[in-house]
Amino acid sequence: MGSSLGHYCGVFGVYAPNQPVAHLAYLGLFALQHRGQESAGIAVSDGTTITVVKDMGLVTQVFDERNLASLHGHIAIGHNRYSTTGSSSWRNAQPVYRSVGEAGFALGHNGNLTNTEALAAQLGMLPGLEPVHESVDSTTDSALVAELVARAWPEERSDGKELELALEKVLPKLEGGFSFVLMDDSHLIGARDPHGFWPLVLGRLDGGGWVFASESAALDLVGAHYVRDVQPGEMIVIDATGVRREVRWAEPEPRLCLFEFVYFSRPDTRLYGHTVHTARQRMGEALARQAPVDADMVVPVPESGIPAAQGFARASGIPYGDGLVKNRYVGRTFIQPSQKMRGAGVRMKLNPLPENIAGKRLVVVDDSIVRGTTTRQVITMLREAGAAEVHFRVSSPPYRWPCFYGMDTGRRSELLAADLSVGEIREYLGVDSLAYLEIDRLTAATGAAAESFCTACLTGEYPVPVPLDDAKLLLEAPAPGADAPSTPADAR
Ligand code: 5GP
Ligand code: MG
Repeated sequence: MGSSLGHYCGVFGVYAPNQPVAHLAYLGLFALQHRGQESAGIAVSDGTTITVVKDMGLVTQVFDERNLASLHGHIAIGHNRYSTTGSSSWRNAQPVYRSVGEAGFALGHNGNLTNTEALAAQLGMLPGLEPVHESVDSTTDSALVAELVARAWPEERSDGKELELALEKVLPKLEGGFSFVLMDDSHLIGARDPHGFWPLVLGRLDGGGWVFASESAALDLVGAHYVRDVQPGEMIVIDATGVRREVRWAEPEPRLCLFEFVYFSRPDTRLYGHTVHTARQRMGEALARQAPVDADMVVPVPESGIPAAQGFARASGIPYGDGLVKNRYVGRTFIQPSQKMRGAGVRMKLNPLPENIAGKRLVVVDDSIVRGTTTRQVITMLREAGAAEVHFRVSSPPYRWPCFYGMDTGRRSELLAADLSVGEIREYLGVDSLAYLEIDRLTAATGAAAESFCTACLTGEYPVPVPLDDAKLLLEAPAPGADAPSTPADAR
């Protein structure tokens, strides 16, 4: 099953003669650490040889001065992989390397394909069961793409343009979500699927050279400035001459993941020309207008709930205050592979401030509720610390449908809101009141056009048909009688 190996990730690429590209990739990945904490990897080319270093762990755990110093060259790509249940293994770390005769290339992928079964069938193999090629040490859909590219490699000499020629044949066959960074020994390539589900930007290094990054915030750290987004359905080829080709290989139909604005992206990243932090504050303001409440203090669930709580306080006039302290050294609890560990993670991460909250009527603001595990424990902690009332406000609509394009939020049955009404969720969480921001107000707060987003996780409207086998498994409802999603019915 393709989607079980789906991944939400951070990718980075750099072309910069005379600069320490491995160190730049390291910095880029460090800035993108929030997009994936399971594994990290960097591939570097010195013009003849591609070397890959990758391992399980955070960027700072995988890389040190010694292994970075061993990565010489002028081109690098890097990848942070997000943890996905059941597929956590070294073999699935990226970049994926594939040799083709004398040549070779490396690939980093953020996203998930929805037609892996069909693609694998074309290659005469079953995905997820066996490594697709002896030189590829991975079983992911990204490895499948590497295999497709290798098989589309031109036989005749093509002035070193083999990789881009192969990609022009392969990219149109892929369905689902992908932001790719690729390199051979002398080219760096970035490409995005026609819906542009996941972000990818092009930047220019101040000292000369070019960069691709999942988020614009990663450009700051490496001393690059933003040039433009890689467009949905576009491939950009960089070589010694600079940006040599900008190929529009498919008609763009932008559907950026709305959750990039709500939660995933760094607040200092810009998406569709709008700063995420400001958009999140506007979400909080809109929430205060939509669902006002009489209370003494607005408390964020740190860190992700902070900007929306600031907006809520500003629009409501209720003072903003701290009620929870976060341990800075604990990663996102979500990355923990089992439900049991996730429960323990919340206490490792958040602790209440009883002096600030005892006897007060609180408005607690967070960006989203997915499984409800964290939220329920946070509310219990606040009550135990003496809160008089807890009014919960969420700056996005109920999260009801699994993502098939690259975000692993598990099965539908694991999503708290899948089959519960807001009233039932309020009871389950044990709060005095509960409100979720309406979708129209949410998209308005981003500043971008409502139709330029994928909202499948909130609305069940999937812009790309979902493979039937995956749909059966992942969309299974928590209880009988749940209504069917809008598109998987007409899926292949
Ligand atoms: P829950 O109550 O669903 O267990 O956790 C809610 C918290 O999870 C919120 O604070 C929200 O910021 C965070 N969250 C939402 N989506 C994701 C995600 O995809 N990954 C991680 N790590 N956290 C998420
Ligand atoms: Mg959070």
